[in-house]
Amino acid sequence: REAEERFTAANPESRRLHAEAAKAMPGGNTRTVLFYEPFPLTLASGEGCHVRDADGHLYTDFLVEYTAGLYGHSHPVIRGAIEAALSDGIVLGGPNLLEARFAAALCDRFPAVERIRFCNSGTESNMFALSAARAATDRDKVMAFRGGYHGGVLYFAGANPLNAPFPMVMADYNDAENAARQIAAEGDRLAAVIVEPMLGSGGCIPAEPAFLQALRDATAKTGALLIFDEVMTSRLAPGGLHGELGITPDLVTLGKYLGGGLTFGAFGGRAEIMDRFDPRRPGAWPHAGTFNNNVLTMAAGLAGLTQIYTPDTAIALNRRGDALRNRLNGIAEAMGLPIRATGRGSMMCLHAASGPVRRPADVAGMPKALRDLLHLDLLEKGQYLARRGMINLSLPMEAPDLDGLAAAFAEVLEARAGLI
Ligand code: PLP
Repeated sequence: REAEERFTAANPESRRLHAEAAKAMPGGNTRTVLFYEPFPLTLASGEGCHVRDADGHLYTDFLVEYTAGLYGHSHPVIRGAIEAALSDGIVLGGPNLLEARFAAALCDRFPAVERIRFCNSGTESNMFALSAARAATDRDKVMAFRGGYHGGVLYFAGANPLNAPFPMVMADYNDAENAARQIAAEGDRLAAVIVEPMLGSGGCIPAEPAFLQALRDATAKTGALLIFDEVMTSRLAPGGLHGELGITPDLVTLGKYLGGGLTFGAFGGRAEIMDRFDPRRPGAWPHAGTFNNNVLTMAAGLAGLTQIYTPDTAIALNRRGDALRNRLNGIAEAMGLPIRATGRGSMMCLHAASGPVRRPADVAGMPKALRDLLHLDLLEKGQYLARRGMINLSLPMEAPDLDGLAAAFAEVLEARAGLI
């Protein structure tokens, strides 16, 4: 309570704006994941890897728009691409000069993606991929994993009355044997298995390669399609995690940073499946969406992927993430505290855990009050991260930014050691 009172006193303008916002939006909010008590900071601007709130405080941005902010705020190359596109008109209503180039760049980059189609969000990409799998197989059911997140209407970390009405089969993450058994038992009733190669929202828990391989083998036997949701994880290696692990799903879904910071989603995969969307074919599947090829996203995404996030840059950023995660774990270990940063490369999440973390159940231990307190403490020290403890890297971050987080983390753990 004391931390909340200090936060409230330090942020009068955010408090006022939140109260104002609550008159038109339930809880003053239009994105549940950005809400926290007593009220979320209202952000006024961002530059590089920093954001400034409505009261004028400056933060290092480790939330990184839940991975979508990889390029940082106002990257000059992205900005230039958007400005150039703006002056040529933004709602053209036809195929434009950029979309095929962007599609080709994505197919070149991600080995499982032979053909691709665009949409407007990661959620949409998963809805289309699952629907395509059901149409392709003429089967009904879809398997997903407890703790997984594929969008606001495909949320499996708890009960969600808003979930899309796909008939679901749930399985446990990183339990290869059981998942393979369930897939075999479902047989020709199962249309698809959808999986994040690392649980993102579920706490940055990497899939074991043997688990993903077991899904590949089991689905190949029954004819269910394997869908990798790489909406978050495609940033973790030049060819996404499927490229890195050498496992080829039938379909891959993409989103987040690949739109250059603008609204984006895409799904792609085996040509034989994706070509069912070819409008020249009899009985082609329809796929529409007014803004699927919107020129601003196409321009920003193409520039980002081809001019900024090159394979070498991807490798370097993820190495920096590995080093930061090791450093945070070293700090907690040296203090003898059961706090761990899980994850891979440039994505990580803080948890209460001392042993190995393989499944969501292994990290369920942090009491909410403690999580909330650590978040407010870190905010007070200028470190902006997700309340759930997720930390992501962006390209503009320099050594002093990472040093700042490590120092704040150490100070906060030391101050709160008695509560952990
Ligand atoms: N899939 C994964 C793995 C995600 O993490 C998210 C968003 O966090 C989504 C899908 C949904 O993407 P969007 O928020 O763009 O709809």
